[in-house]
Amino acid sequence: MSSETPKPTPQTESTQKIDRSPFLTDPLPQGTPQGQQQSLQQSSTQHSPADSPASGTVPRYNLPRGASSGNVGETTHFGYQTIKSEEKAQKVAEVFHSVASKYDIMNDLMSFGIHRLWKRFAIHMSGVRRGQHVLDIAGGTGDLAKVFSREVGPTGHVVLSDINESMLNVGRDRLIDAGCSNVDFVLANAETLEPFADNSFDLLTISFGLRNVTDKDAALAAMYRVLKPGGRLLILEFSKPVFEPFAKLYDLYSFTALPLMGKLVANDAESYKYLAESIRMHPDQRTLKGMMEQAGFQNCDYHNLTGGVVAVHRGFKL
Ligand code: SAM
Repeated sequence: MSSETPKPTPQTESTQKIDRSPFLTDPLPQGTPQGQQQSLQQSSTQHSPADSPASGTVPRYNLPRGASSGNVGETTHFGYQTIKSEEKAQKVAEVFHSVASKYDIMNDLMSFGIHRLWKRFAIHMSGVRRGQHVLDIAGGTGDLAKVFSREVGPTGHVVLSDINESMLNVGRDRLIDAGCSNVDFVLANAETLEPFADNSFDLLTISFGLRNVTDKDAALAAMYRVLKPGGRLLILEFSKPVFEPFAKLYDLYSFTALPLMGKLVANDAESYKYLAESIRMHPDQRTLKGMMEQAGFQNCDYHNLTGGVVAVHRGFKL
């Protein structure tokens, strides 16, 4: 898809273009400021995701086709379950609709706050600079986007995107409250990144998101497409602990404490059981690096954090 591809314009009360339209194949709605506070009606060509709980608070794109990704007849994993590929997006959506309002506090509790350090490391590796254009994919409640908003400054631009309206709404409210006026919020499936034009971002990040995506190769190909030549991709994700005795302890913690905390805090043990299982099913460090190379990324490397509990993968589009 190229930036020249004609796309339908989301129908808003005001459909004036804004300056950043080169980053989207559709112009974003004009709002206050930069579109964040604009409620949208759906255009006739855009459909509500089947899993969407609320109507029109953030721009909707490339759903439902992307939301029910996976070829009919194929199977995939949802945690330890084997399910039909086309069912995974819906099941993942249910998890994040369920946990959205408690997501941030659960992150702090489950990781003892260490997720903040992991994210800080990823931001450090991003080399983000003033004036850059950044896309945070599967960005959820906006931890990374909030920092990038400050780092790129008023001449830069950040897009916080996610497939899940509940998560994106929490992120949107939070960043608006924090005064992040250079951020836009876009519902988008990582597998297609359909709202975004080719070669349009200096930096892409996906933090604890890739694990949940059904077709990871498709997502990596889409990331390669929207990244500018010279740009970089960072993937922050759970990975494979390198020290065996530690891995056993970590397993014990994940499969007992996480569902229990989920039950007590978010009244949802199942979603946190999925979290533990999905981590174990995610490709390990070397496999993910190979997948990035396969998608076209160059000079790929990774850094283990907390003994490989988490890894930051980095790749470039040359
Ligand atoms: N990036 C945030 C962070 O680091 O705190 C949120 C991570 S949260 C564990 C995973 C996010 O991935 C959820 O917000 C979920 O909606 C999103 N997600 C899952 N599948 C997706 C997909 N196919 N495309 C885009 N986002 C997706």
